[in-house]
Amino acid sequence: MQCDSKSAAIFPITVPVDNSLKSFNFYLVQSAETLTLIDAGMNNDSCWNSLLHTLQEQNLSLSDIDQIFLTHHHIDHVGLINRITSECSIPVYAHPYAYPRLKRDETFLQKRIDFFEELYKTADCGEKGEQQVAYLKKAMYKNQHQAIRTEIMPFPSFGHDFTIIDVPGHSEDQVGFFHEPSGVLFAGDLLINHISSNAIIEPGVETTYSYPLLQHMESMKKVMQLKPDVIYSGHGTVIHDAESLIRQRLDAIDHKAEKFLQLISDGYTTANTLAKTYYNKAYDSQFSLVMSEIIGHLQYLENNKRIQKEMTDGVWHYHLT
Ligand SMILES: [Zn+2]
Repeated sequence: MQCDSKSAAIFPITVPVDNSLKSFNFYLVQSAETLTLIDAGMNNDSCWNSLLHTLQEQNLSLSDIDQIFLTHHHIDHVGLINRITSECSIPVYAHPYAYPRLKRDETFLQKRIDFFEELYKTADCGEKGEQQVAYLKKAMYKNQHQAIRTEIMPFPSFGHDFTIIDVPGHSEDQVGFFHEPSGVLFAGDLLINHISSNAIIEPGVETTYSYPLLQHMESMKKVMQLKPDVIYSGHGTVIHDAESLIRQRLDAIDHKAEKFLQLISDGYTTANTLAKTYYNKAYDSQFSLVMSEIIGHLQYLENNKRIQKEMTDGVWHYHLT
């Protein structure tokens, strides 16, 4: 295939899924000199077969892939790495904050467990929090087979087609790949066309605390400044009007924060009571995501000096300023 230096041919690999994400998307990008695989789907046969099929359609094979770039460490973006690299030796690049997660480093996983234990205690989550921590402890060993076996390297500083942009929030290691000549941005899960992407609370690799929603908002604003023509997302369809989608997402965050503010003034003063009251059934079925949402928005309100928190008997209580 011919590509001049300005263009890149993009071959999306879109694997439909029967849940709210709609699809797992990953991408082959052919530029003049390099074939890059951006992300690597889930570890299942549908993703594997779709990858092989997309390569075949272009008269390419696995061994033609020069490099694999990862937008972030989540399981639905790195699933095929072990399978691919056990067949072909292809260098894999990611943000350094992805390494301990991809390698399932025990020290980091233990730090993560301690982090959530403390987080849920101070949020007054009681038994529900303890159950979640017990689940994390089990998963630490049970999911060890998901560790990425090949070496993961930092993105090379030159010699590739993309500007690499940090877009943390959904995960602290999330990056976007901007192909400037064509105005195309691969942004992982920073933006999803049909649903709002979650800012997920996690301990940092270098820090003990994280501010995922604040980071997520900054990352969206950064991308708005970039004015990409097209954003290829980790899920769902291609995004053509990034600016209006980002404005919608930022407005929705403000709107939700106002609702939490109202609940706090109604006397729901802990993260746990806010979560139960606002999310109702989802509190049970999606506990960790719900707590991320609540704590992220509380941090946002605190940051805007709309609320303050005070610790009483080991639990944070929030009140209006
Ligand atoms: Zn994803």
